[in-house]
Amino acid sequence: MLSSIVKEKIISIVTSENFDDSKVERLSYSYDSTPNFQSLPDAIVSPRNSQEVAEIVKICNEYKTPIVPRGSGTNLCGGTCPTEGGIVILFKHLNNILEIDEDNLTVTVQPGVITLDMTNAVEAKGLFFPPDPGSMKISTIGGNINENSGGLRGLKYGVTRDYVIGLEVVVPNGDIIRTGGKLAKDVAGYDLTRLMVGSEGTLGIITEATLKLIPMPETKKTMLALYQDLEAAAKSVSKIIANKIIPTTLEFLDQPTLKVVEAFGQIGLPTDVQAVLLIEQDGPPEVVNRDLERMAEICKLEKAISVQVAATEVEAEALRTARRTALSALARLKPTTILEDATVPRSELAKMVNAINEIAKKYQLDICTFGHAGDGNLHPTCPTDSRNHEEMERVEMAFAEIFEKAIEFGGTITGEHGVGVMKAPYLELKLGKEGIAVMKAIKQALDPNNIMNPGKVFAKESRKRVVVGK
Ligand SMILES: Cc1cc2nc3c(=O)[nH]c(=O)nc-3n(C[C@H](O)[C@H](O)[C@H](O)COP(=O)(O)OP(=O)(O)OC[C@H]3O[C@@H](n4cnc5c(N)ncnc54)[C@H](O)[C@@H]3O)c2cc1C
Repeated sequence: MLSSIVKEKIISIVTSENFDDSKVERLSYSYDSTPNFQSLPDAIVSPRNSQEVAEIVKICNEYKTPIVPRGSGTNLCGGTCPTEGGIVILFKHLNNILEIDEDNLTVTVQPGVITLDMTNAVEAKGLFFPPDPGSMKISTIGGNINENSGGLRGLKYGVTRDYVIGLEVVVPNGDIIRTGGKLAKDVAGYDLTRLMVGSEGTLGIITEATLKLIPMPETKKTMLALYQDLEAAAKSVSKIIANKIIPTTLEFLDQPTLKVVEAFGQIGLPTDVQAVLLIEQDGPPEVVNRDLERMAEICKLEKAISVQVAATEVEAEALRTARRTALSALARLKPTTILEDATVPRSELAKMVNAINEIAKKYQLDICTFGHAGDGNLHPTCPTDSRNHEEMERVEMAFAEIFEKAIEFGGTITGEHGVGVMKAPYLELKLGKEGIAVMKAIKQALDPNNIMNPGKVFAKESRKRVVVGK
């Protein structure tokens, strides 16, 4: 419960219209897209501008009240679950595209802007913002920045981090700082912009962002390579890159995922093959055609049974959409969907795919795998039922082994979904005690009262996942 003094002070800033501590509203914001994490906040607050955000933060810092900034709540790491109560801050009033600067190729936005709305707005001016998370129809830019989200175009164009060049941030003492700007170059001191990107709401609240844009590529083409052998598909990925071709998109779907996606989307995907690669290239037409031909040859040499180029943009968009809906399609299978995010160097992809299948067999689980193969970023996904405690234990053990394998192959526990509360117990696997100590020192310096999204990133105990609420 918020103390009456904190409640009164916050209402005096945002007005009672933008403060809600009803049970219904608290329940609505007690969870996000991550299964099995639920915990009630004390109130939901919707500030109308940066100044109000700063004043709220000052009060919360004084009274040591936790703050959970929340975009659309689509994160998959329990990142917006208010595990320690406090207030959830929404950005529904901070949802404007402030400026598209065609001279400097930048867009300046507030954090609550929906990703797809922003990409549509810049594309209407012939400009391009490449990061395209599967959730872009509902995710916000604030969420994308704080999770450093990736997408289908990450292989060629990088992730959100590569496009954030300036931020306005309310830091945990309530000060408002500006980092970077519309600058191609800026080495004035520590790179605070990069520090904030991917910080999962634990170091401050982003109230404005300036993002880099690039010219829209002239053309793009899409093709599908079909395989009866998972390893051959995975090998094709490293071979394409070893041949010095960097396609825009290089996505992998295994047969169980294909079957579910086709049942959901009914676009005519083959379901009798073991795996497909969805490959896309963009750029000048002659480069696109040349690269597509070379990639088709490589796939065939690596035992693809067929390689088909999408005949029309409608067909290509259907393929992309099918890939983007993979998680939603899998989520229809069983009451609980555990989706993971293990990432390895591309050269280790075939080994990682095999390891996931071995682990699934060992723990007698159905694990469907899809993901951004070109980035080595796989999403092994287990449709299960959290009420079946015995099966959930096997799921936990299987994923712990998957993370260990990823680290053994030189990889990481998360490539794009973040740590949040879900992966916090595994962070030490990747960083070691010393790495965690450095991160904790940064957190302590900026947020000594631990008000910003507490309970996230740093675990109370390592390796064992903490399941809250229910
Ligand atoms: C169907 C589906 C597909 C997905 N596909 C992808 C994908 O392809 N690639 C990918 O990377 N992720 C993907 N995700 C995960 C998720 O959509 C992304 O992490 C996304 O960036 C979260 O955006 P959001 O607005 O929902 O943020 P939220 O989930 O609300 O918040 C995410 C984090 O950001 C913090 N935060 C939000 N706004 C602010 C702010 N203004 N200041 C400070 N902190 C803030 C929150 O506290 C939290 O820690 C997918 C999720 C789903 C459900």
